[in-house]
Amino acid sequence: MMEIYEMREFDGHELVVFGHDANTGLRAIVAVHSTALGPAAGGCRMWPYASTTAAVVDVLRLSRGMSYKNAMASLPFGGGKAVIIGDARKAKTPELFEAFGRFVDSFGGRYITAEDVGTTTADMETVARVTSYVSGLGREPGEAGGDPGPKTALGVYLGIKAAVKFRLGRSDLTGISVAVQGVGGVGYHLCRLLATEGARLRVADVRPAAAERACDEFKAVTVPVESVLSEDVDVLAPCALGAILNAESTPRLRTRIVAGAANNQLGEDKDGQTLQLARVLYAPDYVINAGGIISVAREYYGGGTEAQVTAEIHEIPGRLTEIFERARRENRTTNAVADQMARERIGRSAHKMVA
Ligand code: NAD
Repeated sequence: MMEIYEMREFDGHELVVFGHDANTGLRAIVAVHSTALGPAAGGCRMWPYASTTAAVVDVLRLSRGMSYKNAMASLPFGGGKAVIIGDARKAKTPELFEAFGRFVDSFGGRYITAEDVGTTTADMETVARVTSYVSGLGREPGEAGGDPGPKTALGVYLGIKAAVKFRLGRSDLTGISVAVQGVGGVGYHLCRLLATEGARLRVADVRPAAAERACDEFKAVTVPVESVLSEDVDVLAPCALGAILNAESTPRLRTRIVAGAANNQLGEDKDGQTLQLARVLYAPDYVINAGGIISVAREYYGGGTEAQVTAEIHEIPGRLTEIFERARRENRTTNAVADQMARERIGRSAHKMVA
């Protein structure tokens, strides 16, 4: 039997609900970590998890991450997340997303969904047929909202500039080398912003066409997927998968800064210590990648403009610099400082792992 309350990822979650729809075969889990600051907002991931336990672990980690991300972005939202167990390339139907929408609706607004890995804006339009507790939909020009990828990329770009200033003492990116792992919805737009400012780009993607496009458009150089993390560069920008900073990869890093969009980049907290000892400046993922949720939040409450979203995203580098400075002053890891700040904001004491 799965001992959810005893899992290290549980961390005082308010709600974990397993949903099932017999007609469509929907199997989905909604997790709400905290509603202390408002309704729990976080996207819906669709993934062919190898086991239900793997899906639970993922949704709990992502949900807590959303609590921290929303708190640090000063949004009036708590943190939650949903996962649909299934293969996004094969199992998607409008009926499945309507069933998921009804599941979301059953929480009466305590959880608000949006797109995430494996789901799209179009899927959320389907969800919106049956519930209003959804964001990340189409919008008119100039209105807040729409595809969060470019917004996330803007925040990451500004965050990289803050990290370069702090660690390398440089105010511009001319000639700064950046390795980007994953040039998809966020990574592509990040490359565009970096290239405009004269950064030298190395890109890796498991989809060769995605990497080639970045080479053609931004004069990037392709590097192997297997070795992108150990490129000798100024900045490593992980924009693909989580848990890429782990016991195996961190000793091999040759960068001076890690600053990218991927969620849950650290395999474990102690990987943050390995980075600190190696004098690699780590920009906490949920702080630097908040641009998308800032946009989604403005869209959800309505009436906001794209210009307001852009202005809020420009607050990300200041927040990061505060974390970098505090970490240096207190000789702590940047991830520990950020976690503490986030937990203080949601009124939680330090996270204690259950053995
Ligand atoms: P995406 O799926 O559009 O792009 C990811 C890219 O990474 C794809 O091109 C994929 O082929 C590539 N990739 C996958 N595995 C790889 C590997 N091992 N090596 C190299 N490339 C690999 O996703 P996205 O929307 O660009 O998001 C990227 C990351 O940022 C994800 O971790 C996501 O959770 C996170 N994130 C995204 C947003 C957003 O607004 N889209 C917001 C916050 C965080």
